[in-house]
Amino acid sequence: MKLKRNKSLTASPSHRLPTVGATNFLEYRRGVLQRVPTTEKVKFFLTFTLDVDPDANTAVKGRPDALSYPLEKGRVEIAATARGLLETFRVLEELDIQATLFFEARSAQLLAQRVDLLALTKGHEIACHSLRHEDFLGVVSGMPLNKMQSQDIIAESRAILEDIFRKQVVGFRAPYLRVNHEILSALSELNFKYDSSLISDCLRPFCIVNSNPLWEFSIASLRRGIQKRLTSYLIPLFQGRRSPEEYLHLIQALSMKVFPAPGILFILAFHPWELFVDHSGRPYPDEVSKELVSKFKKVLAGLRGLPSVEFITLQRYLERNLSKVD
Ligand SMILES: [Zn+2]
Repeated sequence: MKLKRNKSLTASPSHRLPTVGATNFLEYRRGVLQRVPTTEKVKFFLTFTLDVDPDANTAVKGRPDALSYPLEKGRVEIAATARGLLETFRVLEELDIQATLFFEARSAQLLAQRVDLLALTKGHEIACHSLRHEDFLGVVSGMPLNKMQSQDIIAESRAILEDIFRKQVVGFRAPYLRVNHEILSALSELNFKYDSSLISDCLRPFCIVNSNPLWEFSIASLRRGIQKRLTSYLIPLFQGRRSPEEYLHLIQALSMKVFPAPGILFILAFHPWELFVDHSGRPYPDEVSKELVSKFKKVLAGLRGLPSVEFITLQRYLERNLSKVD
């Protein structure tokens, strides 16, 4: 499951990082647009997101849904996801962090047979990650789904999630981060409030469908100096290409900048199964998994300790900062 910059859609250049050092900026407060001096502290918001989907999953030629590696078995596995979720929630509870959980509906159904999902996810936001991890654009499957098919699948997956978790689902992240205008339009028509599938260097949410407002919370892909790419997905951390200290240093440096209100939103993302199997589905030895959990905890604990950073779910950010903006 490689993450590539989405060729079908990119964020508008007009939404690039704002200039540092502006003397003042405009902010909606209680529905009124007001000029606010930059001497006021502006938040650096951070959202920790999980894509809860089958272990080491991949799109497959000739079928719209995903399977777990190794493909010869022709199955979806969730054992590593289940273990990873338990480890992740231990860390989140200890650090008092509320996360946004993008659940694939099929995985939620399978996990609900093993663990008390409702109790486990209490206090966290539930969002949608499709029904069976569909390859909506048909990039690998060779079977692109049309708008009507995509809309039906997304509506069904949301209904399953709302039934399992007994709360409203307003956010969506596409499998493989593959969306196009038709899918975004379908989300808007289904009354989703935000999408989080586009990769960009924009750290401010923007309205991507205006008619029935759909906000875009981009997956970050930032260049920070020579060969220092900071991305939302923690894959480089788990693959040993980036240390916890580097993540903390890069995000702290970003959080110290001055940005216009309502503040920057940086998204971190990972798959719970990444703590126990690699991207080919090979299980890690216990000591490797322990080390990965320790690294992951170090990053979150470090960020939790930064005074300039506030953890927030995407739904909460939307309600607090964007619901008044038209
Ligand atoms: Zn996924």
